[in-house]
Amino acid sequence: MSKITIAIDGFSSTGKSTVAKQIANHLGYIYVDSGAMYRAVTLYAVQNAIISKEKFDKETLIKHLSRIDLTFNFNKALGYAEVYLNRVNVEHLIRTLEISGYVSKVAAISEVRHKLVAIQKQLGVNKGVVMDGRDIGTVVFPNAELKIFMIASAEKRAKRRYKELIDRGDDITYEAVLKNVTERDYIDTHREDSPLVKAEDAIELDNSDMTIEEQLDHVLGLISNTLAP
Ligand code: C5P
Repeated sequence: MSKITIAIDGFSSTGKSTVAKQIANHLGYIYVDSGAMYRAVTLYAVQNAIISKEKFDKETLIKHLSRIDLTFNFNKALGYAEVYLNRVNVEHLIRTLEISGYVSKVAAISEVRHKLVAIQKQLGVNKGVVMDGRDIGTVVFPNAELKIFMIASAEKRAKRRYKELIDRGDDITYEAVLKNVTERDYIDTHREDSPLVKAEDAIELDNSDMTIEEQLDHVLGLISNTLAP
């Protein structure tokens, strides 16, 4: 069966990566977490004192972009590819609330987007890819055969993200997570370059009251319809 491209966009913590990983495994497709790439660039900016609570030196980050090498390596045990920054696995370091607090500001810079979108397009050149993010159906793969736009209430999303962070041992409050989720939504939908919007031909999926299993069933149904309409 010929391979398709699946673009999954939506607000922060809507569960995009959970369903994207499941369907990539189900179909034997590549899964690409584009948010991880923006997070890795943000980690680089933190590690090199380019961004902090006090300042954000955008010009220096733009100058450093050529020194930032991003790759994905498949982790068999986990069943998905982890992101490497300059050949170091940074998967665990990019999921903190500190990185979440800065990432949308970094992702608003056109030069950063330009570099990452080029890599993302390349990763999908042979189809058979499931990519999640904010601009996948609008900018990265405007011709994707299936586009899904995920939404859920801010409280539901913050609860899920809070549980994830607590489970991995982070010391955070629910209020801080909710604040981060709503702030990122605001920046992501209001930036000038490729703001988060639903592509005209995307199918909206509100998973506020769905279990993970119900969501997977629903998305597999959408895929079947796309493959054999
Ligand atoms: O998906 P995740 O929440 O990890 O993404 C982190 C941030 O990266 C988002 O809040 C957004 O600012 C940015 N991003 C983006 N475009 C994408 C993926 C993520 O601007 N395609």
